[in-house]
Amino acid sequence: MKLSQGLSFLTALLICGASATAQTYRLPGQHGAQHGELIASQTNTVEVGNTTRYLESLFEEEEEPEFDIYTEGWESGFVNCYRNATVPQTAVIDVSKYAMPHPGYITSPYGYRKKFRRMHKGIDIKANTGDTVRAAFDGKVRLTKYEARGYGYYVVVRHTNDLETVYGHLSKFLVEPDQYVRAGDPIALAGNTGRSFGSHLHFETRYMGYAINPAAIFDFANQTTHTDTYTFDKNTYQNARNFSPEANAAYAAQYRATHKVEYGSAARKSTSTSSKSSGSRSYKVKKGDTLSRIASRNGTTVQAICRLNGIKSSAKLRPGQTLKLK
Ligand SMILES: [Zn+2]
Repeated sequence: MKLSQGLSFLTALLICGASATAQTYRLPGQHGAQHGELIASQTNTVEVGNTTRYLESLFEEEEEPEFDIYTEGWESGFVNCYRNATVPQTAVIDVSKYAMPHPGYITSPYGYRKKFRRMHKGIDIKANTGDTVRAAFDGKVRLTKYEARGYGYYVVVRHTNDLETVYGHLSKFLVEPDQYVRAGDPIALAGNTGRSFGSHLHFETRYMGYAINPAAIFDFANQTTHTDTYTFDKNTYQNARNFSPEANAAYAAQYRATHKVEYGSAARKSTSTSSKSSGSRSYKVKKGDTLSRIASRNGTTVQAICRLNGIKSSAKLRPGQTLKLK
């Protein structure tokens, strides 16, 4: 998707998806100069209608949920060495020396996934098989393992700032346990192993076993951290910080325009159910589909689909229903 298309898609969503539950995004007072500059060029005080529905429409939720290696893997006792530790209520963590694990955009956020009725304890980042995955902070590799039901090949790094990071669905390890790494060092190649359908990087940030929302520490749309220190708080560690869906969508469009992006099962599925004739094109609605998702995957807009099919953007879709796309 080109940037212009991405933005018009965004605009369409904002128009079609407006509702009473608008939120205003604010920036914190203490931003690094670099971050300040990056975001200065963006509109960060846009009101976003119905954020949840908007997010659902943006992200691919085709992947199966990862089982939590810290609590559910058959070796979870080994993986979660913090099981019997007393975790403080709050802790200040130095994240000033960091590297982005991969430059891709977020395809699936942290949080509860209604579709699978479980928590997604990390963030999925768009990555092609073979892309370099980098250590987020300085530290020492704790584990390089394989979990067929979940993370596939994964790496756990214990950092000097007391965080641990987890990198899943890898295709190749570039490090061994007990190896010291610096922020930005290549540690693995991205892949599609384990319970994953389509290449991506599953990335977790943990403090003593608690899976923090990576978007509380990292600002993926601006490829930086929010602040130099992250304050872990047992009450709020699951919350994202200053997360802006439109910034993520704009970054995704920009990333797609400048990188070759491999598509996963989501793209394959939608092409298999839409006829390829040049004159007209139709799409058979699948369970869980939304107009926005269908539009984004077929290179069209919600408005165009509504117009072609004589329906409103709020129309309820039923599985098996055929929609004209062209
Ligand atoms: Zn994931």
